[in-house]
Order: sequence, then C-alpha cells, then structure tokens
Amino acid sequence: MVHCGPGFDAATGAIGLPIHLNSTFRQDAPGVYHGYDYARTANPTRSAVESALAELEGGARGLLFGSGMAALTALFSLLDSGERVVVGDDVYGGTYRVLDKVFKRFGLVATFVDTADLGRLDGELRGARLMLLESPSNPLLRVTDIRRASALAHAQGCLVAVDNTFMTPYLQRPLALGADIIVHSATKYLGGHSDLVAGALVTADEEVGARLHAIENATGGILDPFSSWLLLRGIRTLAVRMERQQASAARIAQWLAQQPWVDRVYYPGLAAHPSHDVHLAQAEGAGAIVTFELAAEVDRDGFVAGLRIFQLAESLGAVESLINVPALMTHASIPAARRQALGIRDGLIRLSVGIEDADDLVEDLDSAARGKLSARVDQR
Ligand SMILES: *Cc1c(COP(=O)(O)O)cnc(C)c1O
Repeated sequence: MVHCGPGFDAATGAIGLPIHLNSTFRQDAPGVYHGYDYARTANPTRSAVESALAELEGGARGLLFGSGMAALTALFSLLDSGERVVVGDDVYGGTYRVLDKVFKRFGLVATFVDTADLGRLDGELRGARLMLLESPSNPLLRVTDIRRASALAHAQGCLVAVDNTFMTPYLQRPLALGADIIVHSATKYLGGHSDLVAGALVTADEEVGARLHAIENATGGILDPFSSWLLLRGIRTLAVRMERQQASAARIAQWLAQQPWVDRVYYPGLAAHPSHDVHLAQAEGAGAIVTFELAAEVDRDGFVAGLRIFQLAESLGAVESLINVPALMTHASIPAARRQALGIRDGLIRLSVGIEDADDLVEDLDSAARGKLSARVDQR
C-alpha cells in the first residue's frame, strides 16, 4: 500500500506524486504526442493512481471515475438494450436506483437475487450478460462465496463484477477468486478521510479494460487530478487504518452481542455469523462495518442523539466513526416494501468504525444506550 504506484517523480526526484492539472498536451506534429493528448482521455496523475489500484487488486487495468456511481454507470454501459444483469438484492441503494431509474429506460433488464443463495443465483444466471455482487453486502453483511458464484456465472458466459468497497484489496482480492471486474466507491476506505468522492473499476484483462476506458472517455465521468492525488495519499495508509478499524470493529461487535438493548448483530467476524467460514476463506479479515438491530424498546433517535464520538452521517470507511440508520438514510431510495423484505428494519443501525480509541467508542455506545454520558467522554 505504501509503495504501490510511483514512489517518486522521475523528472525531479520529488517523493510522492506530482499533480498535473493541465487539460491538454503539446503535440510534436499532428497526432504525434507523448502518451497524452487531452485529459479526459488520460492525465498523468490519474493514470499513475489507476496503475497503483490495478497493482493492488491484481488486475490488468485500473480506471478512476468521479464517483462510485460513475464507475457503476460505465460498468452497466457495457451492456446493450435488452440484455440482462443479475444483481445482489441488498446492494448499495444507489446501485439499485441507477438500474431502476436510468438504465431501465434504456432497456437494460435487472434481476435482483440473494447472491449468497447459490441455487437461486444459478437459476437467474441463464441468459444474463453480467453479474454484480457485494460481499459482504450492505447493510446486512451477507456473504457470497465469490469463487463458486463466479464459476456459476462463467458457466453461463456471464461477466462477473464484485463491488469490493467494504473490503478493499487489503482484505479481499476478488479477481484472484474468479471475478472479471472490481468496482470501488473510492470515497470510502480507499480515500479514507471523508474528503473526496471517487470511483474505480479494475479489470482482470486488457480487453474489458479497453472497452470500459472507451466508455469512460466517451461519457466523461473521470476523476479530476487533485482528487486522484488525494486518493493515492489515502491508499498509502490503508493498511494501518484498516488494521486498527477492523480490530476495534471486532471488539465492538462482540460487545454489542452481549448487550440487552441489542437484538441482533451482523458482523462476518463473529463465529455466529451464518457465513463466517465462507468469509474467512475468501478474505483476510471481517472489515470494520458492524450492523445491529436495536431492541424494540430502545428509542432509536434518542440513542443516536446521545452519541458523542459516532457522528450521524451517510458514507463509511473514513478515519472518524460514523453511524447510519439505513432505512432513513443510505437505503431510503429502496421502496419500503422491498426494504422490509430484505430485513432492513427501522431499528437497524450501521456503524462504520473509525480509528479512535476502541474504549472510547464502546463507552460512547454504552452511555448513549444508557441515556447518559460519562464524565470521561464529556470532558473532551
Ligand atoms: C458508496 C457506495 C457506492 C457509491 O459510491 P459513490 O462514491 O458514493 O458514488 C457504491 N457501492 C458501495 C458498496 C458503496 O458503499
């Protein structure tokens, strides 16, 4: 992570990555230039970070976009009108929305299925062109066996895309498990500091990478040079952030599971998680997202308002801990009936555990649940 991509600038020896803000490049003769002609097509800063990300995911080609949604839009643009994509049924709310509100109008057919249920998944793959899954999924952290799901999809001639936002290449490398394309909201762990919005695709082979680059160049949803630079700066510390956040998340998940005011905890690192073994066979850790269900008698909004360290906000994966009520926030764009069917109830809470002291985080949750704050946190 620290040394991926260029470690220094060859021209000056400057440690780190220079930012090329220029939009255009001088040509020696018409059509004769040094790798770059216009910055929508390619920019040296963005290209360097794209290569770094490809290196981390073990892919042939990396592409950076202005957001995770722009990356997903390019991905779905691989398909023609009338073709079908099979998508995990509890994917990111925005993924559902872009398929339902935008791509449906262009004739793209989306089938939503619990990708963790390989029997059902297999039944839906026939005739599909693309499968997109998240593992662990959002917000219920359901785990799909990526290797087996990819094999089923490939048997039907279907491309496999995995949204690896929650795990990052530090914990899980789906290309090595059989996936063809990785999707990232780099806004989350890769950036890691709640200060940029970015998306990425990484492809296993050059041919799919070239097709996606042609789509990106044609549609224009690129990442700007400054955000590209910030993103590489974030990636440099990904390993230490993830280790710390994951260790605290594991501790919080175990603690929550013992609290009388918590009905249920969803965290793939807990032995009680139904796919604990499947997850640990394909990833190097359980990550730092913990979802739980408040007991019915707990006043949800009072609990959230009582927190001092966890901040109520959309997004996840940054150094500061965040709390989110999926039914009203990240997953509000999913129709209520669908949400209920998926198990995204009103008392469901998703934590993104940051790098603060783990004792402070536990104490914050404890005191908010008890409806009062301790002197220790108060003094901050
Ligand atoms: C946030 C998120 C996205 C969308 O990314 P943006 O950068 O917000 O556009 C896609 N997938 C997952 C899993 C996410 O968490």
